[in-house]
Amino acid sequence: MSNLSIFKIGIGPSSSHTLGPMIASNLFCELLINKNLLDITHTIKCTLYGSLSLTGKGHLSDKALMWGLSGITPKMATPKIQQEVLDLVLDNKILNLHSCKKITFDYEKNIEFCNDFLPLHENGLEFFALNSNNEILLQERYYSIGGGFVKTEQEMQQNDDKETQKLDISINNAKELILEAKKRKKNLSKISMAYERQFHSKSHIVEYCLSMWQVMQESFKSGCNPSSLELPGPLKLHRRAKELSERIKPSTDPFGILDYVSLYAIAIAEENAGGGRVVTAPTNGACAVIPSVMLYLKNHSVGFSDETAVDFLLSAMMIGSLYKKNASISGAEAGCQAEIGSASSMAAAAMVSVLGGNIDQACSAAEIAMEHHLGLTCDPAFGLVQIPCIERNAFGAIKAISAARMAMNRKSHPVVSLDNVIATMYQTGKDMNSKYRETALGGLAKTLSKSKSVC
Ligand code: SF4
Repeated sequence: MSNLSIFKIGIGPSSSHTLGPMIASNLFCELLINKNLLDITHTIKCTLYGSLSLTGKGHLSDKALMWGLSGITPKMATPKIQQEVLDLVLDNKILNLHSCKKITFDYEKNIEFCNDFLPLHENGLEFFALNSNNEILLQERYYSIGGGFVKTEQEMQQNDDKETQKLDISINNAKELILEAKKRKKNLSKISMAYERQFHSKSHIVEYCLSMWQVMQESFKSGCNPSSLELPGPLKLHRRAKELSERIKPSTDPFGILDYVSLYAIAIAEENAGGGRVVTAPTNGACAVIPSVMLYLKNHSVGFSDETAVDFLLSAMMIGSLYKKNASISGAEAGCQAEIGSASSMAAAAMVSVLGGNIDQACSAAEIAMEHHLGLTCDPAFGLVQIPCIERNAFGAIKAISAARMAMNRKSHPVVSLDNVIATMYQTGKDMNSKYRETALGGLAKTLSKSKSVC
């Protein structure tokens, strides 16, 4: 399975809670069409379960359902189109199903929030298509498993993430990655390119990576020039990137570079929190870690070209695929260690690779970056991807840079392998109390809402 889709264009604020439900709604519409049921569908009912219910409103999961059922895909979504859909549903109780059939849709009655968890994943959702006699025409259950990836119940049971087809280069874990890279005398970015060439042409891979890099840079620029200085939601959080970008200047201050890395991360994470266009890397919540390290290299080192950006993204996606195959990239499933931690690990390995490090050093950097995110909880205040998420992206980027440097300067053999730390992260996530896995029932989410200390 190609790893390119670890990076995809997504709308904020959450890949699992906004993008995933939107894609699931698109898929349900396609299923209705394939089964020739669209014409006789009178209405659609949807139920959000578990974490999607508990933090769904803050993450716009309910709105994502209405956008997706209306045939809006993440690529097409603009603020104007999104608002038109909401106006039609909320003012008139009408939804234009798949942009081709107007059905009745009452937000209060047709979207149900159920705090129970479905058995196969923390983020479950279910759709029912009903005819005019209120009889069920079609029912399907989906799981939003993180990073905008969506699976049906059947696909979850098949667990099809690991390679099942016979490939020349098959990589399911870090051990196999290192063996393949050494056998073929390639570094991380080159082995990732060789792996992707089994699925796509070289020009497609390069174009895809460059288009992601383009959107990453655009989201930084938009984050520095927002139309409003206040983020949506009850926190009324002030956007800081614009003023920060005007204030910080190149200087001889030895800490100055840290300010720039923070600026890159805050700008992009604020853009995501405001519902803007970002690249899932590997998720929306953690979307700023990887581009911040890339912008750091581009703006504060010599020789970072488009070719380097492609190598960086290829390296990062290979490491991300190991987390996806063997653990999780979902905060609801394994806490923030699975989101910011995975992003930091991906960025650290990619930085080593583009700076000339070998496969062992790249995997060591990935391991170090994750090792120091182990146990990190997901407790978004008010269920919004704002506190602690925005600043956490900056720390993820800074840790990635530090991990890359440590791995490249190291002379001794690391004791902990990348596979060890991936397994530990997943086990830690599974052992973590569900209050700290994107339910907004514990941690900052609880203390902030109690004190009503809303900045
Ligand atoms: S705390 Fe981390 S995992 Fe949770 S929503 Fe924020 S960025 Fe995502």
